[in-house]
Amino acid sequence: MKGMFDRANRKIEYLRISITDRCNLRCVYCMPEDGVVFTGHEEILSYEEVLRVVNVTTRMGISKVRLTGGEPLVRKGVAGLIREIAAIPGIEDLSLTTNGMLLGKMAAELWDAGLRRINISLDSLNPDTFRDLTRGAELSTVLDGIAIAETMGFGPIKINVVAIRGLNDSEIEDFARLTLDKPYHVRFIEFMPIGARALWDDTKVVPTQEVKDRVAALGGLTPVKARELAGPATLFRLPGAQGIVGFISPVSDHFCGVCNRLRLTADGKLRPCLFSESEIDLKTPMRAGCDDAELDRLFSVALSVKPEGHGMADGVKKKYHRTMSKIGG
Ligand code: SAM
Ligand code: SF4
Repeated sequence: MKGMFDRANRKIEYLRISITDRCNLRCVYCMPEDGVVFTGHEEILSYEEVLRVVNVTTRMGISKVRLTGGEPLVRKGVAGLIREIAAIPGIEDLSLTTNGMLLGKMAAELWDAGLRRINISLDSLNPDTFRDLTRGAELSTVLDGIAIAETMGFGPIKINVVAIRGLNDSEIEDFARLTLDKPYHVRFIEFMPIGARALWDDTKVVPTQEVKDRVAALGGLTPVKARELAGPATLFRLPGAQGIVGFISPVSDHFCGVCNRLRLTADGKLRPCLFSESEIDLKTPMRAGCDDAELDRLFSVALSVKPEGHGMADGVKKKYHRTMSKIGG
């Protein structure tokens, strides 16, 4: 069989790379307001080290790479990294997840570097709520960034919304309506027990079924078959809509059976599952001069320990040690 398969025979072809744990925002559900201890520059993988990992893993079967963080656009030289990854043989899909704050300024250089797909995290369309959720950011900066990226040709533009009861759940319909006139993919993601611990409790999770029922009430939802573009999302279209509405349900209906990814943390750990604390250190062996065969071996170890499921839907709702900004959401 060609490609990398884990012990549950899932084909692993997607590597999500966090290039920094720093961020220019402090979303209330993700990071504490202050006192965040960032990883020192020396401890973060250099771009050369990231490229080495991508080169090795593409030879093993990885064909999709997403850059994330923290906020990936705050790391200097990110466009250069994108250019180099895009040129690696075997990379079929390269994308980036951003909060959109620097998108307006950087869309042209990102496009020029070869990036074509972006996901923007946007949790409110109301300037005041957005300011509260992000602890101070201006909604218009992100909306302008999205508009510039759209004009540039990025597509499909995916907008990720974490629905949190009592914070932004009154906007579910507004977000869904965005797809009527715009070719965006608006994807609702369940709030996960990761990150700012004080905020999470299971009453704040708005289950996908509830979000879906409310969106369907706008006129009905027709399923869209687009597995390739969808990842773990199930996709639908409102009547006459240009865009697509997606639902990602890590809490109520985990999608572990179709999980095709590994994560590389900014400090060089391979994380087989977002919800499992086990990590395999690549940085120490790389810095000690290991050869590529050793990296291959460490990847195989990661595949062998990738859990078959995270059990959150079964009531194992423990809170997780690292935040999404540390792991790379
Ligand atoms: N800073 C970038 C951004 O916000 O898009 C990339 C990193 S951020 C950690 C990636 C995604 O993780 C964002 O869409 C964010 O909403 C999501 N996220 C963070 N904490 C989460 C949580 N507890 N539950 C669900 N999604 C979460
Ligand atoms: Fe930063 Fe993204 Fe976390 Fe918000 S969700 S604090 S933008 S890393």
